[in-house]
Order: sequence, then C-alpha cells, then structure tokens
Amino acid sequence: MVPPNASGMPLQTQGLNAARHNSTMNAVSEPFQIHHTGLAWNNQFHRLGPDFYTPLAPQALPQPYWVGRSLAVADLLGLPQDQLQSDSLLNALAGNQPISGTQPLASVYSGHQFGHWAGQLGDGRACLLGEANGFEVQLKGSGLTPYSRMGDGRAVLRSSIREFLCSEAMHGLGIPTTRALCVVGSDEEVAREHLETAAVVTRVAPSFIRFGHFEHFAARNQLAQLTTLANYVIERYYPACQTASTLDANRYANLLLEVTERTAVMVAHWQAVGFCHGVMNTDNMSILGLTIDFGPFQFLDAYDPDHICNHTDRGGRYAFARQPDIAHWNLYALAQALMPLIEDQALALQALDTFKPVFERRWQQLMRAKLGLTEAAGTAFDQTSQREQDHTLIADLLKLLAQDRVDYPIFWRRLSHGVANQNFAPVRDLFLDRPAFDAWHMRYAERLSTVAPHQAATLMRKTNPKYVLRNYLGELAIEAAKAKDFSGVASLLTLLEQPFDEHPEHETKAAFPPDWASQIEISCSS
Ligand code: AMP
Ligand code: MG
Repeated sequence: MVPPNASGMPLQTQGLNAARHNSTMNAVSEPFQIHHTGLAWNNQFHRLGPDFYTPLAPQALPQPYWVGRSLAVADLLGLPQDQLQSDSLLNALAGNQPISGTQPLASVYSGHQFGHWAGQLGDGRACLLGEANGFEVQLKGSGLTPYSRMGDGRAVLRSSIREFLCSEAMHGLGIPTTRALCVVGSDEEVAREHLETAAVVTRVAPSFIRFGHFEHFAARNQLAQLTTLANYVIERYYPACQTASTLDANRYANLLLEVTERTAVMVAHWQAVGFCHGVMNTDNMSILGLTIDFGPFQFLDAYDPDHICNHTDRGGRYAFARQPDIAHWNLYALAQALMPLIEDQALALQALDTFKPVFERRWQQLMRAKLGLTEAAGTAFDQTSQREQDHTLIADLLKLLAQDRVDYPIFWRRLSHGVANQNFAPVRDLFLDRPAFDAWHMRYAERLSTVAPHQAATLMRKTNPKYVLRNYLGELAIEAAKAKDFSGVASLLTLLEQPFDEHPEHETKAAFPPDWASQIEISCSS
C-alpha cells in the first residue's frame, strides 16, 4: 500500500510521470519507492493551473552520488539534516523516486535574450517539485520537458557545482539570491563541447517566477492568465501593493515599483562586490529581485568595468559596468508586459524612474561601507556636500583601480587591514601609479578622520569579503569533483558561507589568482 503523502494531496504519478518513474526501475537497482521528506508540501504555483506549466516528473538519472550539500538550506526548508545522508533522498533528487506530497511540473515562460525577443522558452531542464515551508524546491538538470527545444534537458557537473557554490556564496555575502540545497552527480554522459557528466542541482527560493513569465502571457494577449499571475505574485510576495496609496493606488504599477526597487538593490550589491552575472536575459530576472540562474558568472579578479565574463557574449552586452542599465532595460520589458494591467503609461514610467535613484543610493551606501565611512549621526553625512565628496572619492578610486587593473577583492581586504593597523603599504603596493594612489589616499585619510577608526575597521571587515568564488577556485573544486573527490566543493562551501571571516587555514584561497585563471573561458554552455 502506498503511504499517504504529507499534504494529503494525490501524488502525480499518472501518464508521463508514471512512465518516467517506472523507467527508473531499470535505471536504479533499488525497488520503486516513494520518498518521504517529512515536509508538509503546499504547492501553490501548481494551483495556478495548467496554462502555467506542464505536469511532469523528473527524468531518472542512474546511480547518483552526492557532490555537495548545504545544511543551512536543509534547515531553511525544515528538512531534517539526516535526510542529506539518505540514499532515498539522493535517488529522489536525481529523479529516480517520487517525493511524497510534491506535484512536479515544468513552467512556461518567454523572454528577451541578448536584447531580442526569443519567444517561448520555459523550464527546459528544470522541474519544480513543489513548495515546502514557504520555499519552492526545484531540480535543475532533471531531464527533457516540453520546453527543452534543442536541448537535452540536462546540466553538466561543472555548471551545477558553480551554481550550487555561487548561490550559497551570494547568500554568505548578504546578496539576494536563490539558494541551493545540493548537487547530485551521475556518470551519465552529456555532450557539450566535450563529453561531460550530468548532475542535478536542487534549488530553493520563495519563487522561481521570472520577468519572462509575465512576458509570455502578455505576448500572447492572454490577459486572464496575465492577471492571474500578477495577482498571485502580489498576494503572495508583495501584499503591500494591494493597499498601497502610491501610484494612484494601482496595484500593478505598485508591483512594478516594488520589483524595480528590489532589482535595483540586487544590482547595487553586484556592482559593489564585483559580481558579473553574464546572462541578464529577461528570463533570468527574478520577479523577487533575487540573483538567479548562475551560468557564466564571475567575481572580478582585476577591476575592469568593461569585463565580459561570458565568452558567448561577444558584443559585451552584459559587461560588468553595463549591468545596471541592462537591469533597467529588463524592467522596461517587464513594464511592457504589465501594461495591459497597469493601463496608464505615466504610472509605469514613474515606477521605472525609481530605478536609477534607488540603485545609486544603495550602491553609494555599499561603497561607503566598503570604505568604512559610516553614516552615524554626527558624521555630517547628511550634508549634500559630504555626499558629493564621497561620491567623487569613490569614482576616483574606481578609476585608479581600473587604470592599474588592481585585484578587486584583495584591494578591499588590504584596505580594511590598512585602516585597522594604520599601515597602508600593502595597499599601495597594489598600484603601479603610486603617486596617484598617494594623492587619493590623502583625501581618503582626511575623510576617514571624521569617523571612529575602530568603527570603520570593523565595518570594513564585515563588508569586504576575504573570500569570493573566483573562477579558478571553482575550477579546482570542479576538476577534483570530476575525479570523485568532493572535498573541495565541501570546503569551498564552508568558506563561502562565512566569507568575511579569516579562516587562516584557507589563506591561499584569498591570494591572487594564478596566471592560468585569466585563460579560463566560461560560456553559456552548461
Ligand atoms: P539559460 O541561458 O540557461 O538561462 O537558458 C535559456 C533557456 O534554455 C531556458 O529556457 C532553459 O531552460 C533552456 N535550456 C538551457 N540549457 C538547456 C538544456 N541543456 N536542455 C534543455 N533546455 C535548456
Ligand atoms: Mg535561465
């Protein structure tokens, strides 16, 4: 007898799902079972109805093994930690066993890719299992869906490790992001430029809805579905929009306003920490302002505003310094999709116009914190002239960093220590143009004298990470994982969960990247 599932809802084991799960009988040695997570599943996206998705179980992945696991994300879900040791969960997350209470599906969306309308996309290799403890749980790399187009529905080990580590690294840095529970790997081969092996990342977020979900229904003039989706997002994630008195009390304009603000804040964080997303297509933009879809991303090594981290992005549309403008462009695409609901163009433009001031304010705030410039009362910070001077100080610093291609994370960490020890020699050593640094430093020291040094140093150490997921660190962990040594993934995870701490045993990972790091080519291929 099949045990009842946690939510009391029927398991989706009919039709294609049943066929898929039965096929797992051939793929794994264990008998067909249902995995019980003990979580109470409440699958609200599923209730939107079939216009929004295709019900479908993940495809079986033979002989899976654990590659990386996050206890913090297990806690977030309320998943007992011992489950992350269980073969049954391992098989379930590899698509080999259904999970009690879930109602798996692949959602449909559209989007603009590299500035052009791409039409229908959708979860081509992702499967939303359901929602537990307020979080959607999604498998990425879980096999073919009706939206796979020319793809194989799979994700390779390399990109899955990158997504897993970067999700948790972003969270460790305090940046809004989707999360990742684990990566499971398999020896099943997947063809990319070379033959690689397949893996599945289990991703976790309050919602995986993208700008592209809205664009999809707008492009098809499906107003009823567009309204349903917008109301769902407002009621669940932006309830204040229902009663907001701003923007003519237009709930949809207020939704656009809120999404604009959250997106601006997210990108401000990216720019401050030196994160390059790589593929800011509208289908990779979260409606919750979360960093989503980690593909050819990169944390800057040397500071270069024109840096293009995605080898496929020949024109540099998504170059580092263009990210704020691209985010704004993407918000225009969202606004366009919401226009049938907002109805009033002036209101939409008013919402969109908040992007630049919100971005600028948050970015300045983050950059000042990196410099240890607190905003405590008595610092005269509120004076416009002080703000403007700080702005110039930051802009001039970035020019120097760019001119000398100074290593971005190392500069900030050394500066933090400089302020703590009053020894700036190691910072100065990073520059070729030392007189230019000295001139800037004099201005900085003067400004710093207006704040308590101890307070500044403490703020800087909490703001300037010692460890970021540099491409080469990821590569080392990936190479080891390909040889079935997963300790590098685990130790990087531990480090990146607390990137501001010293971790003296990992000192080498805070050093300059090796020469070969600049030869790493990361493309859209994943
Ligand atoms: P991305 O550039 O990874 O955001 O992917 C863009 C679209 O292509 C999304 O709809 C993905 O689901 C889909 N896609 C990417 N890789 C694959 C793949 N290997 N198989 C099927 N669909 C894919
Ligand atoms: Mg994507």
